[in-house]
Amino acid sequence: MKVFVSSDMEGTAGVVDWAQCLPGEPEHEHYRGLLLDEVNAAIQGAADAGAEEFLVNDSHSSMHNLRPDQLAHRARYLSGRHKPMYMMQGLDASYDAVFFVSYHGSMSSSSTLSHTYNPRAVAEVRLDGAVVGEAGINALVAQGYDVPVVLVTGDDVTAEETSRVCPGVHAAVVKHSVSRFAAESLHPHEACELIRSKAHQAVATLGEARPPAITLPATLEVDWRNPDLAEMATWVEGVERSGTTGVAMTDDDPLRLYRRFVTTVLLTRGIAE
Ligand SMILES: [Zn+2]
Repeated sequence: MKVFVSSDMEGTAGVVDWAQCLPGEPEHEHYRGLLLDEVNAAIQGAADAGAEEFLVNDSHSSMHNLRPDQLAHRARYLSGRHKPMYMMQGLDASYDAVFFVSYHGSMSSSSTLSHTYNPRAVAEVRLDGAVVGEAGINALVAQGYDVPVVLVTGDDVTAEETSRVCPGVHAAVVKHSVSRFAAESLHPHEACELIRSKAHQAVATLGEARPPAITLPATLEVDWRNPDLAEMATWVEGVERSGTTGVAMTDDDPLRLYRRFVTTVLLTRGIAE
């Protein structure tokens, strides 16, 4: 049994500030250790329930936050920048389950450190009319490969947002968001115990899990933070302007839709303030 782990960082218990999750900042050094513990807790819980192979795709910032030699169960590590499938690089149809570890809520939500891919560019994303964060957008790729998303870890808002697109997902809520820069977190040890037990449950009940059921063709609407960003996004084929700051893209292939969205994010990075 193979598990694909996409790890972010803002959803880790105790993390409430950009400096704590920005590589190069002194505080990052400590918090990356807490993230590693949470990733390993997810791996261990899954392994306890029979999972054998793990790939961890580091999806946060410059995407090299973990220590490869300290990953549990000899997990393979996909790290570094410029990955065509970004937070979902490495997933394919050979996997049995997807875990989202240390995820956060969408830009327009009250989740701690909320953002949707780029906080300087993206104001809100809706999938078929419902607000989605990174978990909901990334679920397109899981659906494209027909693999269920069975675990999400992060705050309460993130858990709720994820369950809208991935019904039945097991959620380890390791903190409660108070504001975008405050949260009440479980002690890291307790957070890891919770993640381990939820990961165990998620893999033990995998027979009941289903891939995300996003109706196809699906439409992503993106509200950008200013009209220049929206205009630039339309340079990507298949992206239509829908308002002063809005664009929309529709596709019957969830993988192509995800790639198109990621292309707009990467393109607009150059002019995001
Ligand atoms: Zn993120």
